[in-house]
Amino acid sequence: MSDSQIILVDLDVSADDAPILAERVRRWVLVERLDGVEVSVGPLVHLPVENTGQQAVCPTCDRRFDTATWIEAADPVFTAWIQGSGMDVLPCPACGAALRTHEWRWVDGEPWALGNLGVTFWNWPEPGDEHHERLRELFDGHQTCVIRAHL
Ligand SMILES: [Zn+2]
Repeated sequence: MSDSQIILVDLDVSADDAPILAERVRRWVLVERLDGVEVSVGPLVHLPVENTGQQAVCPTCDRRFDTATWIEAADPVFTAWIQGSGMDVLPCPACGAALRTHEWRWVDGEPWALGNLGVTFWNWPEPGDEHHERLRELFDGHQTCVIRAHL
C-alpha cells in the first residue's frame, strides 16, 4: 500500500516564528478533530518523493536539467539549509537566475520547497479550500507551496 501526502509549506516563516505558528496549527487540528494531519517544524526540505519529475525547468530561461544534475547542484544548498546556515537560493546553472527552490518548475512532477513549517495531510482526498484558506490565515498570510507527494 502506498501513501499520498499533500504538504502545505509556509515559504516565509522564520525559524524563530515557526514553533509559534505550529502551535496555532496544532490547536486548530485538535479543535477541528482532524485526522492524519502532521505538523513539521524546523528547516526542512519538503519533497514529492515518487512524484519527483524527470526534468527541472528554469522559469527564467526555460533550460531543462535532468533530476540527477539538479539534485547535485541543490545538494549543498539543501545541506546548508537543514543545518540552519543557508539561504533558500538555488541559482540556475545556465542563466544564473537566483531562484528559490519552489520556483523551479518540473516537466512532469511536483515542486520541492524549503521551509521552516510544513503541514502534511496524509491520505486525504484533496483538502477543501476551506482547510487551505484557514491554514494560510494561521500562517499569517505567508506565501505557501503545495506539494502533492507520493510514497
Ligand atoms: Zn535559467
